[in-house]
Amino acid sequence: MPRYDFRCRSCGATFELRRPMAQANDPALCPQGHEDTVKLLSTVAVTGAATGRPAPAAGGGSGGGGGCCGGGCCG
Ligand SMILES: [Zn+2]
Repeated sequence: MPRYDFRCRSCGATFELRRPMAQANDPALCPQGHEDTVKLLSTVAVTGAATGRPAPAAGGGSGGGGGCCGGGCCG
């Protein structure tokens, strides 16, 4: 059963509830009894840095360097 994080806007407390996905958007009640709560984003979506940058071109191609082609011509 997925876990959902909520934040109470009345007292500022954050709490988590385990509930079926069908009730994910249902209003949650603060442990202190407040009804003014908002559902936070899933903690899965806010992980740390991911490797999203493109890797440098491997295998060469038309570079700007002078000298060996980098292939097999010099070997
Ligand atoms: Zn509260």
